[in-house]
Amino acid sequence: MDRSGKEKEERIMDKVGRCPICGGKTSVKAVDVTENVEKRLVLIRKVQAEVCLQCGERMYSEGTMRKLDSLLQRVREGSAKPKKETKVEVYALTQ
Ligand SMILES: [Zn+2]
Repeated sequence: MDRSGKEKEERIMDKVGRCPICGGKTSVKAVDVTENVEKRLVLIRKVQAEVCLQCGERMYSEGTMRKLDSLLQRVREGSAKPKKETKVEVYALTQ
């Protein structure tokens, strides 16, 4: 197989869900995202991501990124109401 043929094959593989980091298979999942907003830790649940089954790399679609950004903007402005609030335990591996 010549080089151009191989590149074409790789592009097709990308479309069916391959990790750009390690080449492992990916699966679409709903994940939790943590963000720091104005010194508060917020958790956003049910974010659709393509997750690598091999290395755990997460990839978000452009549409999901836009929705996440606009939600975080509303969180920053104080116009988004949290579904619930919970206590978080904080630990550290080093002093
Ligand atoms: Zn991977």
